[in-house]
Amino acid sequence: METRIFLPGQLQEAGRLIRSGGLVAFPTETVYGLGGNAFLHDSARAIYAAKGRPSDNPLIVHIPSLDRMSQVCGGVDPVSQILAEALWPGPLTLILPKSPSIPGSVTGGLATVGVRIPDDPTAMELLRFADVPVAAPSANTSGRPSPTAFWMVQRDLSGRIDGIVKGPDTRIGLESTILRVDQGSVFILRPGAIGIEQIRQVLDEAGMSAIPLYSPMEGTAEHPEGTDAAHHQVPGSRYRHYSPSIRVRRFSDGASLTALLQDELNENPDLRFAILTTQRFSTLPLDGQSQRVVVYADLDHYARQLYKDMVQLESEDYQLIILHYPSSTVFSPQEGGIRSALQDRIRRACGDE
Ligand code: AMP
Ligand code: MG
Repeated sequence: METRIFLPGQLQEAGRLIRSGGLVAFPTETVYGLGGNAFLHDSARAIYAAKGRPSDNPLIVHIPSLDRMSQVCGGVDPVSQILAEALWPGPLTLILPKSPSIPGSVTGGLATVGVRIPDDPTAMELLRFADVPVAAPSANTSGRPSPTAFWMVQRDLSGRIDGIVKGPDTRIGLESTILRVDQGSVFILRPGAIGIEQIRQVLDEAGMSAIPLYSPMEGTAEHPEGTDAAHHQVPGSRYRHYSPSIRVRRFSDGASLTALLQDELNENPDLRFAILTTQRFSTLPLDGQSQRVVVYADLDHYARQLYKDMVQLESEDYQLIILHYPSSTVFSPQEGGIRSALQDRIRRACGDE
């Protein structure tokens, strides 16, 4: 199959292609998505086939405005409605009851559907031209890091999909926060750039301070009795995710990095490794030949670059990627959810749960 490249001036054509059953990858503020018409069973099947994704791992459906909600979901509870109005467009996916017009193949057979309005001008324009809800998981083959640049989609999916919209690198670089309201409590199923503090603030401002908010990743209490813990896990968490094909290990401070390096270099003194970090370490045994240290300005920069740099290093034949794990001890609310989102993706890249 020939994969067409669409430039930003050609979104009308790309939108028409999606509406008529084609698959087109496009940038959003989080990662590139692989878009198909969410009303069509065959588009959903084609997405799973192109990605090699298990068909019980549901797709997120994208819409351009709140007035399209009724096309996708059957009834929105008041708490989800408030969060949608306050935080959309943005990196937040809400799990809601599915409308009958969305085929079960889009939601992996579930009675719920993940929905979001992306905060990106290219994605918005494409969604308006498509004029149907667009199912779009990350535009990578299953298990690979999500693409955050055009070249990553091209390298991974060229020849397997109908088109790719060529846009800039994505602004956030990690997948959306996934949230579900269940029996009057709010559960964060997957951490993303919108963090627990921001959600709490929206609820407070709406006079809903009493609503319990649970985020296992962010160290809140256990799930309340009487709710079903299976509802508070994304099906996707069962699968290997976000990993390059080379080894990845993590460290949290200078001492653990030194120990890790000693261990690795004992095994193989010529190891070709790269360290990705937000801190400079001056005492490392580096010779500069077979090693690289990448220092990011801050956590946002780290998040934006993480997948791109892992895939780049993989293609340059590095043997090991060593990731700085941002510990929870220093926390500032201005960071939003990026710290816990990074922690989650770094753990998964290392193969830890
Ligand atoms: P991706 O778009 O590739 O980041 O994957 C979407 C994530 O959303 C996966 O982890 C899915 O399991 C999760 N997801 C999508 N729809 C639902 C749903 N209805 N209920 C729970 N999780 C969902
Ligand atoms: Mg994905």
